[in-house]
Amino acid sequence: MYLGEEVIHTREETVTETHHITTGVTCDCCGESLSSDGTRGDAVAIRYTGGFASPVVGDMVTWAFEVCEPCLQRWTDTFKHPVRVHCDL
Ligand SMILES: [Zn+2]
Repeated sequence: MYLGEEVIHTREETVTETHHITTGVTCDCCGESLSSDGTRGDAVAIRYTGGFASPVVGDMVTWAFEVCEPCLQRWTDTFKHPVRVHCDL
């Protein structure tokens, strides 16, 4: 292969790579598997990184978890103020 000046030497190699493919998600709250039948809805991924001097999460510490939709509803039902609902259809 010609790559401009002849200062870069290459050879062809066949490389086998291993990739991790998500095949399922388990709700971190109830422990139920989110099966493909959709009865527990989609996995809701929550990611939060605490800012400077975050008193609970920690400075630049990230919390990450997935919950099913029924657990999301049970959690948000405990909120003092209802969630704001929008529909983009
Ligand atoms: Zn759940």
